[in-house]
Amino acid sequence: MPSIGPIGNFDLVKKINMEHALSTILQYRPLSRAKIASLTGLNKMTVSSCVDLFVQKGFVVELGTTGTSRGRPPTLVDLNEKAGICVGVDIEINHFTVLITDLLGKKLDSKVFPLQSKDPFFFVETISNVLRDIVKDHGKRQLGIVGVGIVIPGYYNIRTDVVDFSANLQEWNDFPLQAELTKRVPDTTFYINPAPYAGAMGEVHFGGAKSADHLVYVTSSWGLSAGVYSKGELFTGSTGTAGRLGHSTIHMNGKKCTCGSRGCWEMYASIKALYELLDTTPQALTFAEIVEGIKRSDSRMTSAVHELGHYQGIGLANVINAYNPKFICIGGLLALLGPTLINSIWNTLREMIPERFLLNLEIYCSDLGELGIAHGGVSMVLRHLSGMIIEHSLLEQAKV
Ligand SMILES: [Zn+2]
Repeated sequence: MPSIGPIGNFDLVKKINMEHALSTILQYRPLSRAKIASLTGLNKMTVSSCVDLFVQKGFVVELGTTGTSRGRPPTLVDLNEKAGICVGVDIEINHFTVLITDLLGKKLDSKVFPLQSKDPFFFVETISNVLRDIVKDHGKRQLGIVGVGIVIPGYYNIRTDVVDFSANLQEWNDFPLQAELTKRVPDTTFYINPAPYAGAMGEVHFGGAKSADHLVYVTSSWGLSAGVYSKGELFTGSTGTAGRLGHSTIHMNGKKCTCGSRGCWEMYASIKALYELLDTTPQALTFAEIVEGIKRSDSRMTSAVHELGHYQGIGLANVINAYNPKFICIGGLLALLGPTLINSIWNTLREMIPERFLLNLEIYCSDLGELGIAHGGVSMVLRHLSGMIIEHSLLEQAKV
């Protein structure tokens, strides 16, 4: 019979207390030990013992005093944001972007690397070398690399641990990305997610929907997909492919889609659709030129974006009816279309949905810019920060 003796229970209680204390520091930082005790309900001795351990290991630092109380003012404690680094990697078809941040998600560095080959092993090899260089530069920090958030231009099957489908990088389909990365960089934790999930997390953590409870993030690089976030969790579905809303039907006998169906939303509301409306290609007209055209009220481009916004609105009406979000964030290149797109979306929504269901809703374009998705990769890492710090605290303590 397995023994679950008092030592096991003691360790478990200690771990739970540490989690309470640390998550309170992360949420309300900086604050005093007494404040942690009052917020968590833990006694002061327990809080001090947890905080002292974090301070001793260098994960938490003691700041100055509040200076607000009589007698000896309490010392404030805060996360030591320099104790480790987070890495976010945004993979696109021809290149990938690496963002390095501190433990508060503040950018330390970012760099773009070309993907000369579509072979997934080429990416694994390149990112392994990049991570080795990062370890050289930052390895002296107590936690080193806390984790790497990898954002892929497709879906990742969380049941079989392989790339499920990437329309634009089909060479990656069924590739066991997690296993291959872990083989090359064994001491690093990887979190792999599709762009719309990372985009949603990035907005909640760093963007215009900070600390929101309910958000839908819609993005289009060429196709169209959505990430649904609700109360701290992403809605992934059973295998991690939830959010393929670009393939929801908005025209029964509409245009033929790459997925085999007809009349999919992305055939009318994506970047691909915008180029069709303008009857041109990205080679002949860059996206930056379209954005410029809208700024100077070019009638052809403005009317194309209005039509795109109308179709965006039709699809978003389905999103609103299904998920009742507080925020809808338009991300990716679509975000650059700004108020011209948002106004058209609202015009269509007001025709389709009773006003009462729109009262609580805000629709905005992401302003996180070209590092938005990489920031999403970082937020995937930061979600696990307190667990990582506690694991290291207990491990280090066990060694003593
Ligand atoms: Zn489709």
